[in-house]
Parts: sequence; structure tokens; C-alpha cells
Amino acid sequence: MDNRRDLSSVKRIVVKIGSSSITHKETGGADLIKLEKLVRELSDLRNRGFEVVLVSSGAISVGIQAANIRDIYYDGTSDPEHPDDKLRIKQAAAAIGQARLMMIYQKLFAEYNQLTAQVLMTKRNVVNNLNRFNVTNTFDELLKLGAIPVVNENDSISTYEIKFGDNDTLSAIVASLVKADLLILLSDIDGLYTDDPRQNPDAEFIPYVEEMSEKFDDYAKGSTGSKVGTGGMATKMQAAHIATESGAHMVIANAKNLDVIHQIVDGEDVGTWIQSHKNPDFYLSDYFEEE
Ligand code: GLU
Repeated sequence: MDNRRDLSSVKRIVVKIGSSSITHKETGGADLIKLEKLVRELSDLRNRGFEVVLVSSGAISVGIQAANIRDIYYDGTSDPEHPDDKLRIKQAAAAIGQARLMMIYQKLFAEYNQLTAQVLMTKRNVVNNLNRFNVTNTFDELLKLGAIPVVNENDSISTYEIKFGDNDTLSAIVASLVKADLLILLSDIDGLYTDDPRQNPDAEFIPYVEEMSEKFDDYAKGSTGSKVGTGGMATKMQAAHIATESGAHMVIANAKNLDVIHQIVDGEDVGTWIQSHKNPDFYLSDYFEEE
């Protein structure tokens, strides 16, 4: 066991799961087995007394499958690569998929008697001071009520200008807003390597980061992430800067086996642990330019 991982003061946990971890690669449809396991793990954290926020991707993927968007649009008569078309289609898909995904979460969490809530955010919510204040209050009350907020970007109304771009960054923002003690980023990679292990077999795994620095940003540069989600290792490093400076530890781990959630919380040596380094001058808006 890696005894540098101190979880004694961890009470509030944000868990982020990427699209590729909860949808089927072949169809894009929801992977109900994975979702069930995720919900069981998170419900168990609640039963142990932790406060939990879930940041879940998957809306676009689930919506594309639910509405047969590939068959309808990508039949050779329209150009799926046209950026405007793509954005409009994705936004419509997100509206369909988010509702479907939330219905699945509601059903599964209800089986474990958990109260859930949906919070859809845009970049404006954090850049604008009043909006940030309001959304922070919403989270505070939801957690006081014992609910598990399920968060995603409001993809249906977010245009390119107001997008976070990826849920790695969004989850770090949420961790800073709720003053989380721990952010767990679950994706299709074991953690941080010195280079992209998919391309470089000599890449070495890094189990522990004492403090974020440019060195780790450089390690992540070559990686692009999976095809389904948008975040690669570089966005995870950006998330790590935000989360650790705001006072949360962060763990990057593989969602292949969702036992990792309780293993991390039990202090086991899985994934890459990035130690919190609270910066007294941390100010979330510094990370985003006002439009
Ligand atoms: N918000 C997007 C969705 O739910 C995912 C963004 C991401 O992959 O990080 O489909």
C-alpha cells in the first residue's frame, strides 16, 4: 500500500466517468452492466457516510444511438464532417441522450434508496461571478439534502464559445466549487505515464505525484485519449492543476473494473494519485477568459 495517500480527512468526493467507460464501443448505447456497477459503488460510498457528486459524460453517445442518428444523417447525402452540422446534431443528440442517461441513473440509484439530482452546466456558470455563486449554493443544498448530483455540461445549449470542451475540466471545476476533498477521474487508461503507453511501449507508469508541475503536463502532451470521449491525458493534467490548487487530491484510474472506486477510497495503491496543494490565491475564474 502506498502510505503517502492520506484519506483521513476525505469526506466529499467527486467522481467523473467518461463516455467510453459507460457506453458500448460498437453501438454507443448505454452499458447497463457498467452503469449498474457504478451506481452500486457510489451508493455504497453514501452508505459509508461520504458525500458524492457524479460527473457523467455519455449524453451525446447515448443520444446518437437512441435516435438512430448514424443511419439518419450519415447516409452519404449529408456531410458529417461539416462543423455546423456536427455541432447541431451533437446538441440534439445530447438533449435526447441526457434525458435517457438520467432516467437510467434515477432508476438505478432509486434501487439503492438514493436521492439524485441533475445539474447541467455551461462555462458561463463559472466565469460569471453571480452564476458561480448560485450554482455553488445549489450544490451545497443538494449535498445537505443527501442527494447525489449527476452533473454534465449542458451540451444542448453550449455552443463552441461557451463549452468547457470536456468533462475532465468540468469535474475539476465542480470539485473546486463544492470544495471536494477528492476527485476521481475514471477513464480507459490506468493513470499517468511518462508518455502515451499506446504509442510508446517504454512509457513508465507514475503512481504518485507530490505536486503538479510542467513536467507532468509535458508527459501528457502526446496523448489524445479515446475516440468516444473528448478528454485525453492533457485535459486531465489541466483538471489536476485546478483540483489540487483548490484543495482536492485527485486520482486518475481505469474504469475497466469499477471496484477501483472503493479501492481508491480504502487507500489502495491503484491509479495515479496527485497530492492536493491548496493555493491560497486560487481563483477559479483565472483559468477561464471572460468572453
Ligand atoms: N458532455 C459530453 C457528453 O455527455 C461529453 C464530454 C466529454 O467527453 O468529456 O456526451
